[in-house]
Amino acid sequence: GQCVAVCPTGALSEKDETASVLRAIADPDKTVVVQVAPAVRTALGEEFGMAPGTLVTGKMAAALRRLEFDYVFDTDFAADLTIMEEASELLDRLTRHLAGDTSVKLPIVTSCCPAWVNHLEKRFPDLLDYPSTARSPMQMFGSIAKSYLAEKIGVKRQDMVVVSVMPCVAKKAECAREEFAVDGNRDVDITLTTRELASLIKRANIDFHRLEDDDFDSPLGESTGAAVIFGTTGGVIEAAARTAYEFHTGETLENVDFTALRGVDGIRSATVDFAGIDIKIGIAHGLANARVLMEEIRKGTSPYHAIEVMACPGGCIGGGGQPFHQGDESVLRARQQALYTEDEAKVIRKSHENPHIKKLYEEYLGKPLGEKPHKLLHTHYVDRSGRKTK
Ligand code: SF4
Repeated sequence: GQCVAVCPTGALSEKDETASVLRAIADPDKTVVVQVAPAVRTALGEEFGMAPGTLVTGKMAAALRRLEFDYVFDTDFAADLTIMEEASELLDRLTRHLAGDTSVKLPIVTSCCPAWVNHLEKRFPDLLDYPSTARSPMQMFGSIAKSYLAEKIGVKRQDMVVVSVMPCVAKKAECAREEFAVDGNRDVDITLTTRELASLIKRANIDFHRLEDDDFDSPLGESTGAAVIFGTTGGVIEAAARTAYEFHTGETLENVDFTALRGVDGIRSATVDFAGIDIKIGIAHGLANARVLMEEIRKGTSPYHAIEVMACPGGCIGGGGQPFHQGDESVLRARQQALYTEDEAKVIRKSHENPHIKKLYEEYLGKPLGEKPHKLLHTHYVDRSGRKTK
């Protein structure tokens, strides 16, 4: 995995945390909830000899149930939630910008990749007002699980353990950031990589090939096609564009495939027509490419309204926690294609149409960017450059 080169120090060793997960599952006083990121389902099968790009969503859910997690949920649910907040933030900044407010920071920059956030905090401390304040889907999931879900199922926060399965080693350090804890109790307690999950399944003697497909639990298991494509470069901004377009125009977006945003070039750009307003979007994967787009912002020459950055080549499908692909691009393409196929197969392909997300806002959160979302779903960034600030 090429991600290793960009991961923060603490995450380099990829501490094996499977033992902590097994301990939590064996503890009768703990309710153990697991969430799985979008990119995991396109690659996990490779650990069991399947071809790259084999989608194993159903088998993966079945295996997690066999491992005796109490609830098997999907990070994709929270990816829809991230889009609700991030698309609203984009529109809020755009509207103010168009009204002549010169204090607005544009382009908005995605912030769901923790290796990217670390890099920003170290190398671009002067630009910390640009990234979206929306938390990553993993952290939004943890926060909602330990508030909304805990209340719903009558479990105390301290008695709930949230485990995440991620394609990523940098996520291990993300969940340890102090802003993602309440009185020292983390929103996401333990993060496993795709490889660690495979090792757990093998050690439990589960015959992965013969598992019958299973579904995620409800309500934090339902997601849209927009959430699925979070796992590949360009997917987050495409998902955001689907929702922001409809929020802005009030019209139904008929063709949801923004193909101009897709591809594998290290830096891509596209213009999306928002009913007469041209929204310019930039996409970078790999930190060297991201730095090019950030330097433009620094110089005041950035042509973009929104930028998506992922640290790993290909996005999370190529993450450092995934089965090793030895730099083989055809593996990444196969994983990417699997996500677009899953997106196409979904009945609902826009985050704001996810009925469980709608219900969550109605019952609990109120409006996007409101007081409760601000507290539970947003974050802030810290200057970690080591420079002296006054
Ligand atoms: Fe992790 Fe994805 Fe970022 Fe890679 S691109 S560091 S896998 S979040």
